[in-house]
Amino acid sequence: MMMIDSHAHLDSARYDEDREALLERAFAAGVRAILSIGIGDGPDTMHQALDISREYTGRPDLPKIWASAGVHPHEARLADEAAYAKLDHLLQQPEVLACGEIGLDYFYDNSPRDIQKTAFTRQMEVAAAHKKPIIIHCRPSNNSTDAWDDTLAMLRSEWSRTGLGGILHCFTGELHHATEAIDLGFLISFAGNITFPKAQPIRDAAAALPLDRILIETDAPFLAPIPNRGKRNEPAWVKEVAAKIAEVRNISPEEVATRTTRNFSAFFGTEIPASTHLPPR
Ligand SMILES: [Zn+2]
Ligand SMILES: [Zn+2]
Repeated sequence: MMMIDSHAHLDSARYDEDREALLERAFAAGVRAILSIGIGDGPDTMHQALDISREYTGRPDLPKIWASAGVHPHEARLADEAAYAKLDHLLQQPEVLACGEIGLDYFYDNSPRDIQKTAFTRQMEVAAAHKKPIIIHCRPSNNSTDAWDDTLAMLRSEWSRTGLGGILHCFTGELHHATEAIDLGFLISFAGNITFPKAQPIRDAAAALPLDRILIETDAPFLAPIPNRGKRNEPAWVKEVAAKIAEVRNISPEEVATRTTRNFSAFFGTEIPASTHLPPR
């Protein structure tokens, strides 16, 4: 089974002791590529994902690592001109496939909402200038769809005209939020929380969406899927996400793995690593 983990924080300090062993375990589990999210602990460290991509480049025994760069909505209050200049530089690097994760988080409100919106807009402008897609983080406040409503409105008014699309990562919204994003050129990525008992709405969305618009991710080190819930997550466990989507769609995990790998490669125009043999369309 060959898979791509479309969202992992490989630069997390929680991997400093065993990062290479973790990548070996991922490869052994079938993971052939990982998109390492470059938000660091804030703008000052958003280059770390690119550093990791370069550190492990040319290793046929490990997954291919690509990077992103961006300012997470939690740290939007730290997004100054230096941060946007840094993002501008990072998005020019060929290993950096996307800008993100960016967006709105009204659950924690770690940055004021107007400042989150300003940082989101500014980063969409930088991404558009370099023709890079965006990876969206969106989390509403309790029992609300406020952040989804605002995010989709901003994507409609400020992003859809670029035609660049992006990824809604760790999807937790309602089905219509996903279909609206798909209409704007987005892929929908599912994470380990799809395995949690209370996540029936997420499973319903994963069952209903077109198979050619979905991705799988871990969001490691966060959100470890059952049976490892509560532990430090790692890319090898993306197979649990594939298995759950397969279960709710009544198809094989291999088909989920193959299709999501193909979706990622087609969207980013990346070469599928040579060791990944996909059946013909
Ligand atoms: Zn996120
Ligand atoms: Zn993340």
